[in-house]
Amino acid sequence: MPYKNKLDPRAIESSRRRHQNYYVRNRKTILYNKAAEWGLIDDESRINKYINNDKHRFILKLETICVYSNGTMKCVMCGEHKLPCLSIDHIYGGGNKHRRELRLAGVDFYRWLRKNEYPDGYRVLCANCQCVEAERIQSAKVNVRRGMQVRARKGE
Ligand SMILES: [Zn+2]
Repeated sequence: MPYKNKLDPRAIESSRRRHQNYYVRNRKTILYNKAAEWGLIDDESRINKYINNDKHRFILKLETICVYSNGTMKCVMCGEHKLPCLSIDHIYGGGNKHRRELRLAGVDFYRWLRKNEYPDGYRVLCANCQCVEAERIQSAKVNVRRGMQVRARKGE
């Protein structure tokens, strides 16, 4: 281990890079196993067809979730692992604004992430945790605004 403290942000980042490289090299095997494990596709030739077709949206989502979850395919907050519930979350919030700027939605967003070699700042969340996070960020913003108003009233 290059870093003693596993929670060191550099350690997390380096671990993510390692997983990402591993993923890129072993993409087909990983996707094949995952698809079979979840019983998403039961027929072997169909799995191969899906996996060999890079444009397919299902694979694109699977791949993006796989990269950002370090291969665990789980929500980082609660461990939810059902693929339809999972999506990519902007760690610092502002995801919607970002997507609007890029005019991206759904699959196009996944495609954009892949084209940009999976940039940092994103993580995998389930729909529930995404709501919880949105709520938390919203109330944090309200608190900051309130704090500024209180300071303004005090004339600070
Ligand atoms: Zn969750």
